[in-house]
Amino acid sequence: MPRKISILTSNKEELFNLLKDNNYPKFHASQVYEWIFKKYATTFDDMTNIPKDLRGLLNEKYYIHGSTVDKIDNDDNNTQKLLISLYDNKKIESVIMSKNDKVTFCLSSQVGCPFKCAFCATGTMGFSRNLTADEILAQFILMRAISKKVTNIVFMGMGEPLLNTKNLFKAIEIINSVKCFNLGIRHITISTAGEILGIKHLIERDLDCRLAVSLHSLKNDIRNELMPINRKYSLEDLIKILKRYSSRGKRMITLEWTLIENVNDSVNDAYRLVNLKKEFPFKVNIIPLNPVEHYKGKAPSKDKITRFKSILHDNGVEVIERYKRGQSISAGCGQLAIKEN
Ligand code: SAH
Repeated sequence: MPRKISILTSNKEELFNLLKDNNYPKFHASQVYEWIFKKYATTFDDMTNIPKDLRGLLNEKYYIHGSTVDKIDNDDNNTQKLLISLYDNKKIESVIMSKNDKVTFCLSSQVGCPFKCAFCATGTMGFSRNLTADEILAQFILMRAISKKVTNIVFMGMGEPLLNTKNLFKAIEIINSVKCFNLGIRHITISTAGEILGIKHLIERDLDCRLAVSLHSLKNDIRNELMPINRKYSLEDLIKILKRYSSRGKRMITLEWTLIENVNDSVNDAYRLVNLKKEFPFKVNIIPLNPVEHYKGKAPSKDKITRFKSILHDNGVEVIERYKRGQSISAGCGQLAIKEN
């Protein structure tokens, strides 16, 4: 029997042909897509207005997605972490974060991560493979079935999204399309450790989503220690491509700065960021270090965090501190890791 294919990412023509070859009217295709994209159906058997025989045919040829939720952890702060099994039994984690009216899905893009940033637990898992476009979409569908609402998605889960641009862009297109999940493009954020080739793809593709860049230091020696990718692409190269990205006049870049005591929290560090304003416009997202087992660093004291933020703010840099969440279930930034993969 031929291998089944995902209806989420397959060509529409194929479905039209299946209907035609089996003497079904074309409108059933719209019904199928309506069930998937507007009603979040997870099986063809849910599609009650579609003839039973046709549902059988769809089951033979397609699957909606092959991922399952193994476990959900809840913390008291409106954060849920999902452990998801993929078709080959590999596992990933995804996080739902709710605050006031905002519901953000934090999606993974790879199984593990090849980058091994010093302070990030995902890197300790090693890297297995890229997620397919339908596996990226499956996270969205599985989370949407739990949360009933989504206002934003961020690719800040496991992996480096810009090492998986082909599948990432396809999934984003489907999440964004009015005919599919219809989530506004400015509600979608890609976070990168500074994968320059991927940023070039993003520029070529002219995708209008938001870009967040994990900067964490403006000193090459410190950044080399924190983020080994800096040995491949230096800060100078990264700044050059971010200038090019910004010169297109699209949305402002967000720079992520995981604050670590005595590593990147000094007055000089803050002023280096202020000086970067001369190169391109940005805002800064401060993330006080979340504790991870393998890394000895600590988040700075409240006073030091405030000092760092004030220098930026007083010098005209927009700065927000990321709300601490999901710590009790290890669902904070950089805490996602699965041992048994
Ligand atoms: N690979 C992408 C996205 C994944 S991580 C990237 O590097 O941007 C999302 C953010 O969490 C990144 O800014 C990352 O540097 C940060 N992060 C990783 N570990 C962390 C930790 N222990 N505490 C706080 N932030 C962390």
